[in-house]
Amino acid sequence: MDKKELVKIDNISKLFQVDSGMWSKSKDYVHAVSDVSLSIYEGETLGLVGESGCGKSTLGRLIINLIEPTEGKVYFDGIDIHKLSSEELRDLRKDMQIIFQDPYASLNPRWTIRDIIAEPLETHHKKMSKKETTERVQELMRFTGIRPEHLDRYPHQFSGGQRQRVGIARALALNPKFIVCDEPVSALDVSIQSQILNLLGDIQKKMGISYLFISHDLSVVRYLSDRVCVMFLGKICELGTTSLVYEDPIHPYTKFLLEAIPKPDPTKRKSEKQMLLGEIPSPVNPPSGCRFHTRCPYKIEICSKVEPELLECRGRMVACHRAQELIGKL
Ligand code: SF4
Repeated sequence: MDKKELVKIDNISKLFQVDSGMWSKSKDYVHAVSDVSLSIYEGETLGLVGESGCGKSTLGRLIINLIEPTEGKVYFDGIDIHKLSSEELRDLRKDMQIIFQDPYASLNPRWTIRDIIAEPLETHHKKMSKKETTERVQELMRFTGIRPEHLDRYPHQFSGGQRQRVGIARALALNPKFIVCDEPVSALDVSIQSQILNLLGDIQKKMGISYLFISHDLSVVRYLSDRVCVMFLGKICELGTTSLVYEDPIHPYTKFLLEAIPKPDPTKRKSEKQMLLGEIPSPVNPPSGCRFHTRCPYKIEICSKVEPELLECRGRMVACHRAQELIGKL
């Protein structure tokens, strides 16, 4: 049976106005996300990868309505979230949560662990008694691997990995259906990263939650994702199952990102300079045609003039004029 679509975004764009200088009459905009459409299914992890500034965190925040799109629609469980009243949206928020990169910055340092995890319960379940809330907090602490007797400790008394567990416990408090994991292990030591990834994997198995897993680190994304979406300068380059995208990439940018993953054997490493030309273009004035053309070693005349559509190619979606020619050649 086909999996049910939980999140659907249709032609989403987000522009942020930037300071164009005191004497300038025109307004400049950062094109953070440009005309992106995709779906996330029940119980799956969609990995979202790309270099810093490619729009992946903005896309995560657009999906859970932390920011409003300039254009486009977001559907959650078939509901257009921008048509909801503020009360309906508040109710829906229970189902959509976010885990941030820096657990220390996202936890109030003056609150105890109990206060931090209990806050969403106290906001959404006002009839819950204090005893019931504490029991639920302790249950969540046990579930995420934090000792429940540490209920009255403060964030600074925990290690980075433990603080991320607290962030996860808080995100789980209302039994969400969907969590945006925004670089959740990037601030942690490598040895701790795998513990947090395992925890997220176990939670998904037990609760059937869907994740949008955002990271610049392709090896981390591979570990947890069923499908992967590669973004460059606010656009999707390639979207498909993890095995297809990692083992048989078609888009030149996907290939570059995969080549840039550090390899244990130095003789097998390729310099990224071999592969890519130039600097990342400015999102204020993105290149015409294919946004990647100023860096792509495979560009042809049409690339700077016509924007490539995201089309089906060998079992995944690719936005490249030369996708068919590049199959198996990169
Ligand atoms: Fe390179 Fe052209 Fe494909 Fe863009 S469309 S990735 S510039 S070959």
